Amino acid sequence: MNLLIVSSEAVPFVKTGGLGDVAGTLALELSRKGHQVTLILPYHREIKENFDNLKVVISPLSVPMGNTTMQCQVLELISPDNLRVLFIEYNDFFDRHPIYDDGDNEYPDNGTRFAFFSKACLDAILQLQIKPDIIHCNDWQTSLIPFFLKCWAWEQDFFRDTASLMSIHNLGYQGMVDIGLAPFIGLKEKQVRQDEFEALGGLNLLKGALFYADQVATVSPTYAREILSEPGGWGLSPYLQRRQNDIIGILNGIDLEEWNPATDPYLPQTYNRENLEGKRACKLKLQEYFKFPISMETPIFGIVGRMADQKGLDLLQGCLEEILGWELRLVILGSGDPKLEKFFQDLPKKYPTKVGTYVGFQSNLAHLIEAGSDFFIMPSLYEPCGLNQMYSMLYGTVPVVRATGGLNDTVQNFDPISHEGTGFVFQDYRAEALKDSIGWALDTWYNQPKAYKKLQKEGMGRDFSWDKAINEYEGAYKKAITRKRSW
Ligand code: ADP
Repeated sequence: MNLLIVSSEAVPFVKTGGLGDVAGTLALELSRKGHQVTLILPYHREIKENFDNLKVVISPLSVPMGNTTMQCQVLELISPDNLRVLFIEYNDFFDRHPIYDDGDNEYPDNGTRFAFFSKACLDAILQLQIKPDIIHCNDWQTSLIPFFLKCWAWEQDFFRDTASLMSIHNLGYQGMVDIGLAPFIGLKEKQVRQDEFEALGGLNLLKGALFYADQVATVSPTYAREILSEPGGWGLSPYLQRRQNDIIGILNGIDLEEWNPATDPYLPQTYNRENLEGKRACKLKLQEYFKFPISMETPIFGIVGRMADQKGLDLLQGCLEEILGWELRLVILGSGDPKLEKFFQDLPKKYPTKVGTYVGFQSNLAHLIEAGSDFFIMPSLYEPCGLNQMYSMLYGTVPVVRATGGLNDTVQNFDPISHEGTGFVFQDYRAEALKDSIGWALDTWYNQPKAYKKLQKEGMGRDFSWDKAINEYEGAYKKAITRKRSW
């Protein structure tokens, strides 16, 4: 198939979270499978700094938006796996770091930036005569594309057979923008109604895609069910229910080239399922990094992720005093909500031998925490898929998670009788439930070392490759194409 993947971020170019991992890896895997794949990204400052000297393939590209026409450039890079990557260069919008906010607040023109990006992608491929069977859109930033395809591009014969698949990586972010943006996007009055884009007196860009996309995908089977009712639907459950038959939950794979303890260049010593000796060296280095007194016996619980309400850090706050009374250590890497950042940054001052915090985004430390910890905590309020729990299992670091979304689909709860399982799973969104699970994990560590080792090995043996997901995406693409052609 001829596939176009459009995203606001993708590895190895720019990443702020799971979306970046998934968009980049999926594009590569589909290309390796023999599809003709083009990935399009905005030319963000971070990409500019690391990937210059790209080939200019269109200059200028005129993009009509409302009453104006904007001029940008399109750059190209062909990756060794024959993946074609296009970048939309428009410095007023994308020569920024970070890519979505100034560290505290979202950029006020995010709606304008990504509406322009979405339209520019279609103008670019039209000019380059790339005629995809499918445009795979990712999250609200690219969610206007299904609308453009069915309305604006409908006039152009070129896109007549191009179908769209809208992937929802996180329904907590929907692209709520001011209604005044409607003329810039090209929305007619009939499209600014409750059925399509209108929500709470503004425009909800993701909601519009639920009306126009040929297929909708989300990133785990459990999350695909959770979003059909509230609170998981974040207000959109009625519109998702309407598309119930077109929604598919496909569990993300992970990039096994980046996340493999046997080859990971960030680790002081590599290791594998048969020989975990190198993991000790990683634990040692992690303790040195956070200036803990060295103890191989005391378990380390790691956390890596965005500091956002979604991640359930309030549960940890709610039981912290108690669990820090136990014989364990906690290492935290993350950034996001300034209040949470400050809370966790202050903790090591109170517990210097027990808690280590690094506020910021640091891939090498993320790898070291995955490898050097004994347990990994993800008490998420909701988790569409989650990648860190999969990384941790492959690194022999036993996850402690809440049974939501992809966490529910990937972590198998420890069975105290058979000792089957890959982690510790709790149900209720309560600090007490997290505390009990950490207590159970700790008890297993100290009193049932064989059961702990079995958990480790079981997790390290799980298959988190992209193979299954790729087959499922191919099926979803075919369904979308059939739907579009009968539209
Ligand atoms: P989400 O997409 O909700 O942020 P995921 O678990 O799906 O959560 O993916 C998060 C990705 O971002 C993982 O690859 C994780 O290692 C990475 N990540 C998140 N925060 C940081 C950080 N502060 N430093 C390094 N990597 C991080």
